[in-house]
Amino acid sequence: MLKPIQRDFQVRFSYATLFTHNLFAVDNTTLRDVIDGEEKRVLFVVDSEVARHNPRLSADIVRYCQHHKDKMQLAHAPIVVPGGEQVKNTEKYVDVLRKAVNDHGIDRHSYIVAIGGGAMLDMAGFAAATAHRGIRLIRIPTTVLGQNDAGVGVKNSINAFGKKNFLGTFAPAVAVINDFNFLETLDDRDWMAGVSEAIKVALLKDPKFFDYIHVHAEDLKQRDMTPMEWLVYRCAELHTEHIATNGDPFEMGSSRPLDFGHWAAHKMEQLSGYEIRHGEAVAVGLALDVTYSYKRGMLDEAAWRKVLETFQKLGMSIYAEELDMLNEDGQRHVFAGLKEFQEHLGGELTIMLLEGIGKGVEVHHIDLDVMAECIAVLKEWERTPQSVISTVEAATITAEAEKV
Ligand code: NAD
Repeated sequence: MLKPIQRDFQVRFSYATLFTHNLFAVDNTTLRDVIDGEEKRVLFVVDSEVARHNPRLSADIVRYCQHHKDKMQLAHAPIVVPGGEQVKNTEKYVDVLRKAVNDHGIDRHSYIVAIGGGAMLDMAGFAAATAHRGIRLIRIPTTVLGQNDAGVGVKNSINAFGKKNFLGTFAPAVAVINDFNFLETLDDRDWMAGVSEAIKVALLKDPKFFDYIHVHAEDLKQRDMTPMEWLVYRCAELHTEHIATNGDPFEMGSSRPLDFGHWAAHKMEQLSGYEIRHGEAVAVGLALDVTYSYKRGMLDEAAWRKVLETFQKLGMSIYAEELDMLNEDGQRHVFAGLKEFQEHLGGELTIMLLEGIGKGVEVHHIDLDVMAECIAVLKEWERTPQSVISTVEAATITAEAEKV
């Protein structure tokens, strides 16, 4: 009998997340500097809302490439695709990009440069990762959530079978470039939605960062760019640090710490017909799991209140009616999110909860009756924030935490 042949090998990934203003000013070399080699073919893809708010963007890109033609050569005029979740809810735009790759001679030494919100980047990244088995991708996120989370990670996807991110790849970009100027044209919803991902990562990893968000909540709400730039920077730093050092960048195991609050969030997005923004759903999902952590005796009351008050100061909702939607059996639809969350990753159900600000804890069981109580608490808090102070009794906190 022939003995098995086994070989181990590693693939090393390294990418920079860069921060700038006025990226397409010809004397800004941030983009030029990440192109490896000379006269590389470059295909630009632009989110339709970014194109609408920046009518000179295509001309600026053409001028930039012309000025830096020793490094990059425009393969075709920038391709505009719809922004928002609609671009992920179909394979249509993935096909548009794959066809463009074929039609315009984009090979594995060429670059796709995707400029847009997290949804559009997810779609473009999926197309880039699968055409020719992987074309070099440069992400230029244009939303808060894109710059501090979706754009700086290693995942790409589109939705299918009514499920978020059902089709996708793990494929890091060669570089991520955050131009803060793009954030100026966001509407208030998208300006604020990305703050929830920063709260998430701060709650898990950095109490000082959480305090910073808490203290600057009003300024962030008033669209002060200074705290927003720091929020984006620190959140991106914590995210990429996690990816690089947690030992499971491609999520082979059952644990997905950065998906804190996401089991409910993804389900709520779907139940709302993607009317709720991802970041808005994450805010509600975090409030829910933080309240559950408190109800199960893991988190103290002061910390629980501080989290909910922070969302309140930011003007973000902590309750959505999707939490109370019932199926034909009278069960809450949202609870199916737990099973879908587990199925997406495989293995044992693993949900991140909180045992202190800056300290996550994983559990493998969720008590749905307690979770239902938490939904009622959030609904009440959202209606009259102060009333909850007297109605949530410490006496309800009796159960032992199901810590690992
Ligand atoms: P989004 O991409 O849906 O964008 C929201 C809206 O803002 C869209 O209408 C878009 O066209 C518009 N927009 C984008 N940039 C703009 C600008 N500069 N000015 C004005 N309007 C602009 O929302 P998002 O919050 O950026 O991203 C959410 C998506 O990211 C979800 O699909 C989520 O699943 C995904 N995501 C992916 C990861 C990952 O690791 N890949 C992580 C978190 C979230």
